[in-house]
Amino acid sequence: MGKKYKVVFDREVCIGALACNAVAPEVWKTADDGKVDLIGGTKRDDGKWELVIDEEQLGKNKEAADSCPVYAIVIEEVEE
Ligand code: SF4
Repeated sequence: MGKKYKVVFDREVCIGALACNAVAPEVWKTADDGKVDLIGGTKRDDGKWELVIDEEQLGKNKEAADSCPVYAIVIEEVEE
């Protein structure tokens, strides 16, 4: 079994630059307010959104995280 990762998205700091949507539209969807939504994500108590992904989805999401100008996307490794 491959490793699992967590995409953590701070929607508060997102400025709607849409770089994430350009590299991974299957995960980052444009929203009516000009920001993006993390498709399939769940909202945490701290207001951030998170989505568990597997290794196959890591590359694209890393690219999305790296492309975000305000560092709204963070990828963490999930401890098994
Ligand atoms: S790249 Fe960052 S700022 Fe731009 S839409 Fe995605 S999360 Fe928001």
